[in-house]
Amino acid sequence: MRLCRFDEGRLGLVDGAEVRDVTAALDVLPSYRYPFPPYDVLIAHLPQVAARARSLAGAAPALPLTGVRLLSPVANAGKIIAAPVNYREHLDEVKSDAQIHANNPAHTLTIQKAGVFLKASSSLVGPGQGVVIRKPERRTDHEVELAAVIGRTASHVPAAQALEYVAGYTVGLDISIRGSEDRSLRKSADTYTVLGPWLVTADEIPNPGTLDLQITVNGELRQKSNTRYMILGVPELIEMASSFYTLHPGDVILTGTPEGVSPIEPGDRIVATVERIGTMEVGVRAAVTVSGSDPVRGEHGKRNRDCCVDDGTVPRAA
Ligand code: MN
Repeated sequence: MRLCRFDEGRLGLVDGAEVRDVTAALDVLPSYRYPFPPYDVLIAHLPQVAARARSLAGAAPALPLTGVRLLSPVANAGKIIAAPVNYREHLDEVKSDAQIHANNPAHTLTIQKAGVFLKASSSLVGPGQGVVIRKPERRTDHEVELAAVIGRTASHVPAAQALEYVAGYTVGLDISIRGSEDRSLRKSADTYTVLGPWLVTADEIPNPGTLDLQITVNGELRQKSNTRYMILGVPELIEMASSFYTLHPGDVILTGTPEGVSPIEPGDRIVATVERIGTMEVGVRAAVTVSGSDPVRGEHGKRNRDCCVDDGTVPRAA
């Protein structure tokens, strides 16, 4: 099953090129009072929501996917866990490019020594919201990654059982400012984690370790690989992460990027694909000022502002 979130918090069941609006399936969720649970309540009740969505779908309005604005399929990820240098050839390119390693020895450690890191959950957006370049004076790169969404509470889970804890998979972008700072800072700017186009439930992907993935920027192929080249697979990443902290429903694991990372800039059009999941298109734009003028990127900012809905999720430059 392919579940998406779109427009103003609506829930969709993806059926070919159409999306069935099954927002009413959210009625199966319990109501909460403050303090709210520290996990994603939709993902925590995914089997119930999916069953209701399935029963509603036949009579639900069908909309063309091209006409909706796709949000992150996970609304409230408690943690965004990410794997650094988890493809051998990406580690090689990091070591050979001073702009990427920035003379920080921590950036060229193998993943077994570096471990995983955390990105701010406030960095999370969907493809329809796009990437807003936060520091235009710094090199900012795309990284396409398979993303696994945790479905149930997991602590000290051995790799052999780890896939039982996965709710589903989605395509991830780990947008990264290059430089000497810690990854958790450089990769946590608003909009620098993109998930989409939808969540594919885990039953459709019994083996996440054999998936082709690729990314193009303005039609040019930049990264193309297969998840079989990951150094630590999804089960091993869950084992490592859950040995340090408890994973909750809706926590996201970005599994690392293959070789071919390269800079993006306002006006770029990113198309990212993971086999058996789907393809998402993501626009890149400059931050714009409240007054409407864009001192940094001029016409780019003006054009992109005009094509995007400002729902308050987009940071504005001071
Ligand atoms: Mn990454």
